Amino acid sequence: MEEFKEETAKDETLQLLSRKVIQGWPDSVKKIDPEVKPYWPLRDDISVEDGLIFLGSRVIVPESLRGNILQQIHGGHLGMEKCKLRAKSCVYRPDIYKESESLVNSCCVCEKYHSSQQKEPMIPSEIPSRPWQTVSADLFYVQQAWFLVVVDYYSKFPFVKKLHNLTARAVVNEMKMLFAEKGIPRSLQCDNGTQFTSGEFQQLASQFGFEIVTSSPHYPRGHGFVERQVQTMKKTILKCRETKEDIDLALLALRTTPLSSNIPSPAELLNGRVFKSTLPGMIQPSKNQEEVRNWLQVRQDNQSYYYNRHTNELPKLHRDQAIYAQDPVRKTWNPARVVEDGNSPRSYIVETGTGAHLRRNRIHLRPNNAPNNLKNNLSSLVSQGRMMSQSSSVNSQGLTPADNSANNLSNSDQITRPSRPNPQCSTLAEAEKSPRKSRSGRVIRAPERLNL
Ligand SMILES: [Zn+2]
Repeated sequence: MEEFKEETAKDETLQLLSRKVIQGWPDSVKKIDPEVKPYWPLRDDISVEDGLIFLGSRVIVPESLRGNILQQIHGGHLGMEKCKLRAKSCVYRPDIYKESESLVNSCCVCEKYHSSQQKEPMIPSEIPSRPWQTVSADLFYVQQAWFLVVVDYYSKFPFVKKLHNLTARAVVNEMKMLFAEKGIPRSLQCDNGTQFTSGEFQQLASQFGFEIVTSSPHYPRGHGFVERQVQTMKKTILKCRETKEDIDLALLALRTTPLSSNIPSPAELLNGRVFKSTLPGMIQPSKNQEEVRNWLQVRQDNQSYYYNRHTNELPKLHRDQAIYAQDPVRKTWNPARVVEDGNSPRSYIVETGTGAHLRRNRIHLRPNNAPNNLKNNLSSLVSQGRMMSQSSSVNSQGLTPADNSANNLSNSDQITRPSRPNPQCSTLAEAEKSPRKSRSGRVIRAPERLNL
């Protein structure tokens, strides 16, 4: 998006367009500069926001990024219709359809893997009433590797898993992992491959509780759907191998392209949210998500409130204070001295016995109660050749690997920061005596154990 802003700022036509949007359009098309004429019929839907120009929710593409965006639209070598749907879902240029058409027509990889002329008639299968109710599975072989593909009949979302071998166990394991993540479908359609007819697979079905429907003889038509998906997967994999494009990004393109101009993408249909792809676009949280976010905030505040009742912040250290610093690797405490405050909370710059300056989190420092011995301690360490830490050299950013771990700690510290008073209770005492309730009146209990 940053690149988009920069290029939009440099694009003379778009800057002209932006001024028209902000200052107002003339009352007649005749008075308009020829460069922005193509936008005249769309003027009511054009807006400027944060340095970007939008047509509805689609970003208008500056000339300098045209080629780049077209390539991305055709990323994964989707066919013409898909490319147009993809463009329409997030970006705009006056001639984008024509431009993507000529790009697809001139793509030699797409030409090479073009479908054979003759297509078998398609027998439609019944559409389930909800996502992930009916899925179809199949195996395919391409580029010296076997793949398991599982497609949802409702959303058409394809899952593709590379198999290390063709045993029933391998298929069962992949299927289990998938169902643990996405839930269990009501029925799974497959052919009579030995993996699917195996005892192991039957056992999975009875353990997880789904029905296996084999393609023949009861479902001769059902398998056409997954076979078409397999063809698409195979072609995508072959094309990507040939052009050295990323297969996962190609699959993402396939999953995030709307099914038609009025049906969202497989990703959105199956998961109920818009997926970010490599194409620009704004993803706004839904009303429901905003509400859930507020509840998550309340939950987190509650957790830190209860956790912090049993914690105290470590006392601050002062400049030149003699301390011990914990060696991040050996976990030993070694004499050191505070040089100054670090830039982030609870972080300090300390000088070790070797004179190296390191940034350390407060949790890894403790006061040395025999400060007069500091010099002796430091010099005796040096003379014994026991360097405090292997990581005592500071790299170009002034950070050592150990610093990073300390910073990680300080991230999680945010949760353990001493209590802001609980937002729902005006006093602590009140929080103690009255159990807090959820909106529906349910009592909110503090978690037994913190789930940090
Ligand atoms: Zn292509």
